[in-house]
Formats: sequence, structure tokens, C-alpha cells
Amino acid sequence: MINQKRIEERIEALSKISEQNVEWVGVSRRALTDEDREAQALTKSWMEQAGMYVHLDPAGNLIGRKDGLDKGAKPLVIGSHIDSVLNGGKYDGTIGVIGGIEVVQHINEESIEIQRPVEVIAFCEEEGSRFEDGGVFGSRAMTGEIKSEHLDAKDEKGITRRGALERFGLAPNEIFTKGIRREMDLYLEMHIEQGPTLESKGIPIGVISGINGRYFGEMTVEGEANHVGATPMAQRYDALVGASEIVIELEKISYRYGAPAVGTVAKMNVMPGYPNVVPDRVEMSGIDIRDLDNERRDLIVEQLQNKAKEIAQAKGLSVEFNDRLRMSSALCKQHIIDTMEAAAEEMNVSYLNMASGACHDAQFMAELCDMGMIFVRSTGGSHNPQERASIDDIQLGTELLSRTALSYLKY
Ligand SMILES: [Zn+2]
Repeated sequence: MINQKRIEERIEALSKISEQNVEWVGVSRRALTDEDREAQALTKSWMEQAGMYVHLDPAGNLIGRKDGLDKGAKPLVIGSHIDSVLNGGKYDGTIGVIGGIEVVQHINEESIEIQRPVEVIAFCEEEGSRFEDGGVFGSRAMTGEIKSEHLDAKDEKGITRRGALERFGLAPNEIFTKGIRREMDLYLEMHIEQGPTLESKGIPIGVISGINGRYFGEMTVEGEANHVGATPMAQRYDALVGASEIVIELEKISYRYGAPAVGTVAKMNVMPGYPNVVPDRVEMSGIDIRDLDNERRDLIVEQLQNKAKEIAQAKGLSVEFNDRLRMSSALCKQHIIDTMEAAAEEMNVSYLNMASGACHDAQFMAELCDMGMIFVRSTGGSHNPQERASIDDIQLGTELLSRTALSYLKY
């Protein structure tokens, strides 16, 4: 039996371990802090209760394992994260780790025979809320994407990631000397949706088809600064007007492509930014374009850039692009999707086939093995204290996670 009460108590217990600040009401548990250490110790004790033996790898990933009858077989891995953003919610990441432990505890308590080993991983620093160079550190370390310079990234107090890992009693250089890539047969992750789709459709569970690929870049529009009173409308080269049209164009193109495509300009720096001066330069950063299909995503980028050139030309402006990052989407394996859908139908639970707009550790594990993901309906957005998922929905998700895992573990 999946124990709803135990899951609920564990979510609450983890949420209490938080950095304190009078202005925050949510959970603040940044990676490799004292709070993270306390949360890891608690999670480790739950893993042990579930019959797993536990270790911390050199990148700070907490790994619990229960062997199957065939000790040489590659494990089925269930993972997510227990770090949070500042003033975040209590469900993001944690339900995946707690749900994974619940699956193993269920196997243990019911004495279910499993052939292959099962592992639960709480990945280190998924959120990227502490060090300057962003998140998914633990899962990227596992796929070999972390280089020595990533260990030199600092937090706001000047503490390096290397130093923080060492304070956890780890030898971070072993990431490179020993390697921490793990053999795995299959990876599963359950996560809250963090968006409104399931809630708006009244469906508790999402069976994920894949995680959107991401383009990230910048654009600079240049015109001519001039007097706002003395320069007639027809003789202006207003960089902000051009930039604004480009932003609206991105919205139009994204709509035209339709879900799961999304496009955003997150930041604009308007110069010179004086009340009396027509803007001559706009730096748009955080241009973020995502889709499940990498080619479609690249087409959106290309159309936006072509349209930006047209707009600039028509207005006597110039435009420059800086493509910073193109991350490929990660597709969930069809046989896992089929297994999840069959299990959901057995449970008589309605589900939605959908893509994940947000990035997860699963994206990187897909480089190591077949990957599948489950979403649990959530409300109140995410990365804020209002984030919420009902315990009934979390139980359904965990039950589905358990049935999916068992259909691979038993044989
Ligand atoms: Zn998360």
C-alpha cells in the first residue's frame, strides 16, 4: 500500500527545514547549506527505513539502493531534488524523492520480489539558487558535463561550490578522477506540473512525452538618440519602438506554432534611459524559446531573427543577435509512456499526455538510459510559497510511479 499519511508527513517535515528570513513564508533550502545537510540526513533516514543502503557521491547526490535478485542487473532509478529556490514551495522536487522512497518502502513492506536493483536519487542543486552559474549540477555531473571551472563558481558570500562540497565531507575532484556516471536501465521522475494545464482541464496526472528544448539568447537594437520634443515622429530612429515590435512578433510566432512552443523576452535594458531622450539602444536579454521539437524551436528562432531584421530595416535601425545556448529536448521513451498509460487506465485515473515546459534532472538522465516522467497537478504557480498540490493527487502520482516501476522491476 502507498501510505498517504507517511507521504504527507514527510513533505511537511522537509518543508520545516528552511533558511529563515522575516520576509519569507516559503521554503528556502539552497544546495549544500546547513539546511540542505539536515534535509539530506532526514531523507537518508527515510531511505534506510525503506530498506536501502545509502551513500553520497562526490557531487553531493544522495543515492539509496535496494538490490534485486539479479545483483548484476542495471538498476531502475527514481529521482528528483530536495533543494529549493529562495522563498519557494514545498512540493517542487520533494514529492519525487519522497514518492520514490515510498515506492521502495512499499516493495519492502509487502515483500515484493524484484529482479533488478532499484535506486532513489536526491540530486544535488537542481534549482541553481545558490551558485552564480545555474542549476542541475548533480545530474550534469553524472553525465560528465561538469568541468573543473564549475567548481570555482561562487555564491553571494564568495564560497565556491568546491568549498561547499568539501564542507559536506566530499572530495569534489573525484567527480573527474573517479567519475560518477551510473549504470542505469531506466529513469523515472515524478514532479509537480508547475503550470496551469492540468488544473485548467481538471485532470490530476500528466504522462510526459518529453522535456522541451531551449534556446537562450540576446538581441541588441540600435537607433539614434535625439530630443523627444524637437524630433518629429517621421524622423526618429527609436530603438525601443523597434524592440517592442520584435517582442510582440515573438508572441505572435509562438502562438502560431502552438503548444508546447513558448517564447519570452525576460529583460530589456533601455538606453540612455533619460526622460528627455529618444532611446538609441535596447539590449534584450533572456530571450527564451522552447519546444519539444528542436527543429521547430530553431525555426521559431530563425523567423524571429528574420522578422527583427525586417523591422529594423523598415525603421532605419540596426539589430544584432547573440545566441548563447541551444539545449536539445529530451523525449520520454514510448514503451515507458505506454506502461504509464496502461497503469493509469488500470487505476481508472484520467491523465493528459503533455510535454514539460520546465527543465528537470530527467532531461540529463535521458542521456544515460530510457526516461519517463509523471506530472502531478499543482496550483499557485511554482517557485513561490503559494505552490500547492493536493495529497490525493500526490498519492495518485505515487501509485502510478509505483505501478510503472514494478512492471519493470519484477521481470
Ligand atoms: Zn523541481
